[in-house]
Amino acid sequence: MEDEEEQQGCPFCKKEDCEHLLVHIDLTFRRAEGGPLSEALNEKWGQITDEGGDDFDEYEPWEELIEMCLDVGDFDETYGLDFGPGAASKYTDVFCSSSERLVDAVRKLKEFWEP
Ligand SMILES: [Zn+2]
Repeated sequence: MEDEEEQQGCPFCKKEDCEHLLVHIDLTFRRAEGGPLSEALNEKWGQITDEGGDDFDEYEPWEELIEMCLDVGDFDETYGLDFGPGAASKYTDVFCSSSERLVDAVRKLKEFWEP
């Protein structure tokens, strides 16, 4: 069976690492790994887990955080990478249709996430 979850790249310019990428999120390890929003997202997530303490259930707050990223983006895709048995990771990439919209999206979320 063909893997239907392959990375498609940017839907707007078909390049990788382009100006449309808002954030590249590793869903398996729950951290952002690229894009202009990644630092703010990781910071916010660190803050949430710090406040949560030891018995913290990460699932819901993480989903909410991702939902916010998807909301400000114009396109998103989720795909899996298989590194061998038991070592698959799932990623979500969020894109904006223009660099103006991307700057807007980053500003909006940063304001929202301000402590
Ligand atoms: Zn692009």
